[in-house]
Amino acid sequence: MSFIYCSKCGSVVTMVPKPGKSYECQKCGTVVKTPSDYVPKTVADYKPFRTYIRYPALKTITTVFRFLGWIIILLACISFFISLILAVKYNSGSLLLTLLLTSIVSLIGGGFWALICFALAESIEVSIDIEENTRTAKDILELIKKYPRPSQ
Ligand SMILES: [Zn+2]
Repeated sequence: MSFIYCSKCGSVVTMVPKPGKSYECQKCGTVVKTPSDYVPKTVADYKPFRTYIRYPALKTITTVFRFLGWIIILLACISFFISLILAVKYNSGSLLLTLLLTSIVSLIGGGFWALICFALAESIEVSIDIEENTRTAKDILELIKKYPRPSQ
Protein backbone atom coordinates (compact mmCIF):
# COMPACT_ATOMS: atom_id res chain seq x y z
CA MET A 1 0.00 0.00 0.00
CA SER A 2 1.35 3.41 -0.97
CA PHE A 3 -0.17 6.80 -0.25
CA ILE A 4 -0.16 10.02 -2.26
CA TYR A 5 -1.16 13.05 -0.23
CA CYS A 6 -2.80 16.31 -1.28
CA SER A 7 -0.21 19.09 -1.38
CA LYS A 8 -2.78 21.59 -0.08
CA CYS A 9 -4.83 19.91 2.67
CA GLY A 10 -2.78 16.78 3.37
CA SER A 11 -5.52 14.19 2.92
CA VAL A 12 -4.98 10.93 1.09
CA VAL A 13 -5.50 11.39 -2.66
CA THR A 14 -4.82 7.85 -3.74
CA MET A 15 -3.33 4.69 -2.32
CA VAL A 16 -2.54 3.06 -5.67
CA PRO A 17 -0.51 5.80 -7.41
CA LYS A 18 0.88 5.41 -10.92
CA PRO A 19 3.89 7.38 -12.20
CA GLY A 20 3.05 10.62 -14.04
CA LYS A 21 -0.68 10.41 -13.38
CA SER A 22 -2.85 13.22 -11.97
CA TYR A 23 -5.26 12.72 -9.09
CA GLU A 24 -7.92 15.07 -7.81
CA CYS A 25 -8.25 15.53 -4.05
CA GLN A 26 -11.72 14.43 -2.87
CA LYS A 27 -11.68 17.02 -0.08
CA CYS A 28 -10.45 20.27 -1.63
CA GLY A 29 -10.26 19.58 -5.37
CA THR A 30 -6.53 20.20 -5.73
CA VAL A 31 -4.97 18.20 -8.56
CA VAL A 32 -1.89 16.27 -7.43
CA LYS A 33 0.43 14.87 -10.06
CA THR A 34 2.72 11.94 -9.32
CA PRO A 35 6.26 12.44 -10.67
CA SER A 36 7.00 10.43 -13.83
CA ASP A 37 9.86 8.66 -12.02
CA TYR A 38 7.65 7.89 -9.04
CA VAL A 39 8.51 4.80 -7.02
CA PRO A 40 5.86 3.65 -4.51
CA LYS A 41 6.90 4.36 -0.95
CA THR A 42 5.62 3.59 2.51
CA VAL A 43 3.66 5.97 4.76
CA ALA A 44 6.82 6.63 6.78
CA ASP A 45 8.59 8.14 3.76
CA TYR A 46 6.07 10.97 3.61
CA LYS A 47 6.25 11.98 7.28
CA PRO A 48 8.59 15.00 7.11
CA PHE A 49 7.18 16.10 3.76
CA ARG A 50 3.58 16.16 5.00
CA THR A 51 4.11 17.72 8.41
CA TYR A 52 6.28 20.54 7.15
CA ILE A 53 3.66 21.40 4.55
CA ARG A 54 1.21 22.00 7.40
CA TYR A 55 3.67 23.63 9.80
CA PRO A 56 6.36 25.22 7.65
CA ALA A 57 7.67 27.45 10.47
CA LEU A 58 8.32 24.63 12.92
CA LYS A 59 11.36 23.25 11.11
CA THR A 60 13.00 26.70 11.13
CA ILE A 61 12.09 27.26 14.78
CA THR A 62 13.60 23.90 15.74
CA THR A 63 16.83 24.79 13.92
CA VAL A 64 16.91 28.24 15.57
CA PHE A 65 16.54 26.72 19.05
CA ARG A 66 19.36 24.21 18.37
CA PHE A 67 21.58 27.02 17.04
CA LEU A 68 20.79 29.21 20.08
CA GLY A 69 21.66 26.32 22.38
CA TRP A 70 25.12 25.96 20.82
CA ILE A 71 25.69 29.76 20.82
CA ILE A 72 24.87 29.86 24.54
CA ILE A 73 27.31 26.99 25.21
CA LEU A 74 30.00 28.80 23.23
CA LEU A 75 29.43 32.10 25.09
CA ALA A 76 29.35 30.33 28.46
CA CYS A 77 32.68 28.65 27.70
CA ILE A 78 34.26 31.95 26.59
CA SER A 79 32.95 33.68 29.71
CA PHE A 80 34.22 30.80 31.87
CA PHE A 81 37.75 30.91 30.45
CA ILE A 82 38.00 34.73 30.48
CA SER A 83 36.94 34.81 34.14
CA LEU A 84 39.44 32.07 34.97
CA ILE A 85 42.28 33.82 33.13
CA LEU A 86 41.45 37.11 34.89
CA ALA A 87 41.23 35.28 38.22
CA VAL A 88 44.75 33.91 37.71
CA LYS A 89 46.02 37.35 36.65
CA TYR A 90 44.45 39.37 39.50
CA ASN A 91 44.70 36.88 42.31
CA SER A 92 43.76 39.27 45.10
CA GLY A 93 41.09 38.54 47.72
CA SER A 94 37.57 39.74 46.84
CA LEU A 95 38.19 40.21 43.10
CA LEU A 96 39.44 36.63 42.82
CA LEU A 97 36.29 35.37 44.55
CA THR A 98 34.06 37.45 42.21
CA LEU A 99 35.86 36.17 39.12
CA LEU A 100 35.69 32.55 40.27
CA LEU A 101 31.97 32.97 41.03
CA THR A 102 31.44 34.55 37.59
CA SER A 103 33.12 31.61 35.87
CA ILE A 104 31.02 29.07 37.78
CA VAL A 105 27.78 30.99 37.29
CA SER A 106 28.40 31.39 33.53
CA LEU A 107 28.99 27.65 33.21
CA ILE A 108 25.90 26.67 35.19
CA GLY A 109 23.69 29.42 33.71
CA GLY A 110 24.88 28.75 30.17
CA GLY A 111 24.33 25.02 30.57
CA PHE A 112 20.85 25.63 31.95
CA TRP A 113 19.69 27.88 29.09
CA ALA A 114 21.33 25.66 26.48
CA LEU A 115 19.44 22.68 27.92
CA ILE A 116 16.18 24.64 27.72
CA CYS A 117 16.84 25.48 24.05
CA PHE A 118 17.58 21.84 23.18
CA ALA A 119 14.53 20.68 25.16
CA LEU A 120 12.30 23.15 23.27
CA ALA A 121 13.69 22.00 19.91
CA GLU A 122 13.10 18.36 20.80
CA SER A 123 9.63 18.91 22.23
CA ILE A 124 8.61 20.54 18.94
CA GLU A 125 9.86 17.43 17.14
CA VAL A 126 7.97 15.18 19.56
CA SER A 127 4.76 17.17 18.91
CA ILE A 128 5.31 16.85 15.16
CA ASP A 129 5.77 13.08 15.50
CA ILE A 130 2.64 12.74 17.66
CA GLU A 131 0.60 14.86 15.22
CA GLU A 132 1.93 12.86 12.29
CA ASN A 133 1.27 9.47 13.88
CA THR A 134 -2.24 10.49 14.88
CA ARG A 135 -3.01 11.66 11.37
CA THR A 136 -1.55 8.53 9.79
CA ALA A 137 -3.63 6.37 12.14
CA LYS A 138 -6.71 8.40 11.23
CA ASP A 139 -5.99 8.06 7.48
CA ILE A 140 -5.54 4.30 7.80
CA LEU A 141 -8.76 3.97 9.84
CA GLU A 142 -10.66 5.97 7.20
CA LEU A 143 -9.25 3.78 4.44
CA ILE A 144 -10.19 0.63 6.32
CA LYS A 145 -13.73 2.00 6.70
CA LYS A 146 -13.83 2.97 3.01
CA TYR A 147 -12.42 -0.31 1.74
CA PRO A 148 -13.64 -2.97 4.19
CA ARG A 149 -12.10 -6.41 4.12
CA PRO A 150 -14.31 -8.71 2.04
CA SER A 151 -16.14 -11.16 4.27
CA GLN A 152 -15.13 -14.78 3.77
ZN1 LIG B 1 -6.83 18.45 -0.68
